[in-house]
Amino acid sequence: MQVVPVHAELDQLKASDAEVCKLVDLATDIVVRLQEAGHEAYFVGGAVRDILMGRVFSEVDITTSARPPEVRDLFRRTIPLGEAFGVIAVVSQGIPFEVATFRSETGYTDGRHPDEVTIGTLEEDVQRRDFTINGLVLDPVRSVVLDLVEGMADLQKNVLRAIGDPVARMNEDYLRTVRAMRFAASLTFDMEPATEAAVRGAAGGLEKISRERIHNELDKLILHRVVPLGLRLIGECGLTGPIFGMSVRDDRMEAAATLIEALPDPPGMADMLAAVTLATKGSSLLEEVASAEAERRARREAKRLRLSNADRKRLAEIFSIFPILEELPNVRLGQRAESYRRESFGVALHLERERRRQAGESLEPVDEMWQELLAFPPERLAGIVPVTGHDLIQHGLTAGPQVGSTLKELSYLFVEGKIASRDEALKWLEKLLAR
Ligand code: ATP
Ligand code: MG
Repeated sequence: MQVVPVHAELDQLKASDAEVCKLVDLATDIVVRLQEAGHEAYFVGGAVRDILMGRVFSEVDITTSARPPEVRDLFRRTIPLGEAFGVIAVVSQGIPFEVATFRSETGYTDGRHPDEVTIGTLEEDVQRRDFTINGLVLDPVRSVVLDLVEGMADLQKNVLRAIGDPVARMNEDYLRTVRAMRFAASLTFDMEPATEAAVRGAAGGLEKISRERIHNELDKLILHRVVPLGLRLIGECGLTGPIFGMSVRDDRMEAAATLIEALPDPPGMADMLAAVTLATKGSSLLEEVASAEAERRARREAKRLRLSNADRKRLAEIFSIFPILEELPNVRLGQRAESYRRESFGVALHLERERRRQAGESLEPVDEMWQELLAFPPERLAGIVPVTGHDLIQHGLTAGPQVGSTLKELSYLFVEGKIASRDEALKWLEKLLAR
């Protein structure tokens, strides 16, 4: 076991970020209390890795020799999270800290969870973790890291390596294949070759893993703003089909990554799925991209991946825009503005532009729309006419469906700059009625 002093790293990170400083201080208090009661206790997992890398983090997990009832007795506010697994949250200043008893896991015959969990030693607890860089523990009282898995060396070499036999570890819990990709992308680490080979070999087993757990890992890619690299790694590791289903080929992930890179803002889940779906058809014709089939496929994946309602709505909107892009330059400006106003129009247009670029199609229609959109006076683009249906009826229009269609026409005229005020709108109505 290697014992590495980390005063400098801890002090530097605490000085750089008030949130992290508070988290570390509160978590340290918990560790102190556990140690003073005669138990072993350490920070573990992501926080230790991030402290050593000088990265900020938002949670600190603690691992301890104390049993759950002992933990409960030592702290005023605790929440049981999974007492069977020995996990309790200790709440300090409103912040929950996960405190887990050292455990040893055996079995994993289902490829998802251990058959048996027993209380173990620090050594066993570290050995059950997935990657060496996630298996380091930190004693904040002595300001040292204890390294039982040669994680420090991997951290220094920017290498992601499974703890123990990589094939066995991937087959125990297939989610680790996705986690491998996620950590390699978010940390920009290389996968150690045997680990990468094991990930590839185990990709098929992902079917057994719940969509929620996979979705969680994809969420982290998005959070860390590493979607393009993540998609490339998904492709390289053969995880495309298992993650995105719909018989997407691994070699399309490069195209999907490039589509994402064309977006001006970091993508959300819906943007990522839209790019993957677009890329699936690769350089095929626009009709295919714009087809109802593509939209259906996107919806199916949205459901499969358990998207939030907001993401589902956004994905549906993006896919409802693709089919009309081709015709949009030919419709009247007022009508075109209805599309311009949609929240996802920009994303859809960026994706379409990049798709065209990849397919060697003309960019001109897309660029012309961009220019028009950018030059549009915002108050006109909004298309809000300064008259109501009630006004129209008061000025002589018969109540009925024509009120709606007249308002729509007025909105178009407003967008098109042919009407600029309430007076002009009412004059236009007078002329219409006089005809
Ligand atoms: P993040 O900063 O994204 O939260 P993390 O390393 O803290 O990264 P978590 O998913 O929060 O990752 O898990 C905490 C720790 O628990 C990991 O560092 C790892 O040691 C262990 N762990 C989590 N999931 C698994 C798994 N499927 N198999 C083995 N160990 C795991
Ligand atoms: Mg974590």
